Amino acid sequence: MKVAGNIISRLQKIEKVEKVERFRLSLQLIGLAIFIYFGSQSTFYVVLLSVPVALLFGPVYCGWMCPRGMFQNIIGSMGKRVLGKRYNKLIPKRIHKPLLYFRYVVLLFLLTALVLYELQLIDDSLMESVVIDGLLVIMVVSILLSFFVDRAACRYFCKEGAAASLTNLVKIRKIKRDASLCNSCGICDRVCPMWIDVSKKDVVRDTACISCMKCVQKCPVDALRVE
Ligand code: SF4
Ligand code: SF4
Repeated sequence: MKVAGNIISRLQKIEKVEKVERFRLSLQLIGLAIFIYFGSQSTFYVVLLSVPVALLFGPVYCGWMCPRGMFQNIIGSMGKRVLGKRYNKLIPKRIHKPLLYFRYVVLLFLLTALVLYELQLIDDSLMESVVIDGLLVIMVVSILLSFFVDRAACRYFCKEGAAASLTNLVKIRKIKRDASLCNSCGICDRVCPMWIDVSKKDVVRDTACISCMKCVQKCPVDALRVE
């Protein structure tokens, strides 16, 4: 009876996860529609509008609504199928940690360029050909990189993600791990697209977190909660 009960609760969990993933995809499609209708600048404004929610739960736009996240998920699932166990092996963990700061370099580059542009120290053509086109190339290449590395653009290159990630430092509700329930299975670590060692933390405070809640969804014993 106990085995049957376990199987039923496992199936219910899978069904719940699938529903949540469908909901995520719907939000990402809305994000894509906004992006297509209002243009690339809209991402910046949507991130700004989502600040109140981000102050509560962290950068939820990144984990739930960003169309670039959707493309990375699609390309990433193709990469997982083709590469199998070789997926996510391109960047070693010791390089991953310092590389996480590169997105702040990209953000700083953009902010510096905007200040110089306002001061008329760089002209329209330089702004368009180097800054705007350069950042676009970086974004497209990094999205394609997610064929090899989960959420490569979010991890290392996204300027909006860099700005939004700072809300992790002040967010009110955090992911907490109940050590008395946790069985150290490591599923949360494996499903985290940002490679955060959730199973080794009591509270997730990392700036890399994109508030996707995949760790919470997939924990088999509900040891992870948002509190
Ligand atoms: S998935 Fe849940 S039970 Fe498994 S290591 Fe993470 S917190 Fe612990
Ligand atoms: S720690 Fe959890 S919520 Fe944060 S990025 Fe990883 S899986 Fe998503």
